[in-house]
Amino acid sequence: MTTEHVKACKNIEACRAFRKKYFGGGGCVVQEKILKDSFDDNNEKTNNDNLVFEMGENGVMEIYHSEDTEKTNNLSTVPSVEEFDTDYKRTTEMVGEGAMRSYCFQRLQLLSSGFRTHVTMNAPMESLEQGNLLGTDFFRTLKIDNHIHAAGAPTAKQFVNFVADKLENESDTVISSDGKTLGEVFKDAGLDKDYLTIDAFNVLADYSVYQRFDNFNAKYSPFRMADLRRIFLKTNNHIGGRYFAELLKIVLNRHELSKGHVSGLELRLSIYGMERHEWDDLADWMLTDWEGGDFPGPLVSKSNRWMIQIPRLWRIFRMKPGRDGSGFNDMLENIFTPLFEATLYPERKPKLAEALKHIVGIDSVDDEGAPEEACGCQRPHMWTSPKNPAYWWQLYFLWANLEVLNSLRRAKGLNTIAFRPHAGETGNPLNLACTYILCESIAHGMNLDQQVSLQYLYYLDQVGMSCSPLSNNFLFRKIGDSPFLKFFRRGLNVTLSTDDPLLFHMSDDPLLEEYSVARATFDLSMTDMMEIARNSVLMSGFEEEFKETYLGKEFRKGVTFCDEHLTHVPLIRAKYRAEHLAIEHMFCALIAAGKANVVLDEMKTQFGLARDAHRKILFENMDEIPPSFPELGQL
Ligand SMILES: [Zn+2]
Repeated sequence: MTTEHVKACKNIEACRAFRKKYFGGGGCVVQEKILKDSFDDNNEKTNNDNLVFEMGENGVMEIYHSEDTEKTNNLSTVPSVEEFDTDYKRTTEMVGEGAMRSYCFQRLQLLSSGFRTHVTMNAPMESLEQGNLLGTDFFRTLKIDNHIHAAGAPTAKQFVNFVADKLENESDTVISSDGKTLGEVFKDAGLDKDYLTIDAFNVLADYSVYQRFDNFNAKYSPFRMADLRRIFLKTNNHIGGRYFAELLKIVLNRHELSKGHVSGLELRLSIYGMERHEWDDLADWMLTDWEGGDFPGPLVSKSNRWMIQIPRLWRIFRMKPGRDGSGFNDMLENIFTPLFEATLYPERKPKLAEALKHIVGIDSVDDEGAPEEACGCQRPHMWTSPKNPAYWWQLYFLWANLEVLNSLRRAKGLNTIAFRPHAGETGNPLNLACTYILCESIAHGMNLDQQVSLQYLYYLDQVGMSCSPLSNNFLFRKIGDSPFLKFFRRGLNVTLSTDDPLLFHMSDDPLLEEYSVARATFDLSMTDMMEIARNSVLMSGFEEEFKETYLGKEFRKGVTFCDEHLTHVPLIRAKYRAEHLAIEHMFCALIAAGKANVVLDEMKTQFGLARDAHRKILFENMDEIPPSFPELGQL
């Protein structure tokens, strides 16, 4: 053990402490008793007049007791943006230091070779054990598509067929406020039924989207007509988003009926923060029972939990007419004020209060490679520049406000909402340092292969990563260069997800296609496949009781406690993963505490004794000792 090792492990411990401080809530001060008492007389559906909230000067919501008229005692505080700036910068410095990079690289290499050894020795045992788990197999075991955008959820084929059906049966439906019918929109554009082909729609990803997020975004509009996107893929339009709901119900149906295999999903809908009424509109749409039509019911499904994605579109917000003097806080208030209102005063927003019970996470999305402006610790109301502020700065304010909201929801006994942004798809790999500190899990994470220290931290804390190799293949990273297999072998908490079946997948079962392509490309065994599926359930936002059904009653205790009959992951694999993770944690803690030499010496002594015992057994069973065998005591 050298001083470099000690330095590296101290850095690792310090980085992990930052994650506990932010994601773990250790740095937040919540006056729980006052909050809980204030909710005592309320039931879930009545307003809580004991508490008030307001957006603070620092861009984070503040909570006060209504009797605290001077507003001196904020009941739920989070570390300030200055503090986060310092901690985030310190993290990026530490992960960049040579000592930490060398240590992490070496440990990751050992994890890779350890896995290879495990599989070489135990693969037959794993498949035998798996074969003995009767009554289950890959198809009968749950997997969740943790990362799928609602507007891209139907496949191109489903979408084209749906539009063709509407054109045939609902050509007279008025679909815009100027009185135009669906038939007229197509006629005006010179499109007849012969144009209803996947190629003419031009929604499938092709060469034009590689490294081009703008072209990728344009693919959501069939025939490049924004009108068609608005009619079919939006929740707020002249028909109240009915087509979009019907289209998604086709997607949901396959999961609900377990067609082909057992699966669920976490569909993402957008809140842009452009207008204050967006959440109410969305809640309306989610809870509408489309009675009278051929649509079977509200868009709340047993197989789906909703995620909300917030695109980083400040530049668009700022450029809208009349917003010259607007600050970033205006956008933050559009995003968060309705959520605090619905949580504290559900009588004012009953639909949103109900919809929030079905929302499990907030995502932050957009092109990570897009230019952004350094903004220091600027307060949001001071950020009036039309340029997009830095990724870390935007993520801090989303996290901070969500954390305060969750402290209220926890006090009230309501579900909390996780922070699960897109990160490491492209752009600056250090974005992953920001999400490491702030977030429960991420979508993508491919850029972790450019930063070994962060990759090792993601391993140690088992930060969930919902990877989409097929999506990456079309947008940012060819599948042959995907680090997915490397991450998986090392034991990072990765799973597979589809991202946007509309653009990337050819079959009617995009999730199965994703697993199937990964199996062939990365040469995954069925044990590997089951581990990836189990990870998807673990990192999902589905309720604990739901997870108990699919992972076993004791799944919370760790992967070795997941029921192998339910997950179809043989215990030998789960034990391998758990033991190695524990060893890495212990090594790091011992080295950081300066105890490594003493412990290693003792381990060497014990190892020597064990070796001598093994040697004795060999000697006793061999007629002749090979001459190459070292002398006793020489080993
Ligand atoms: Zn995505």
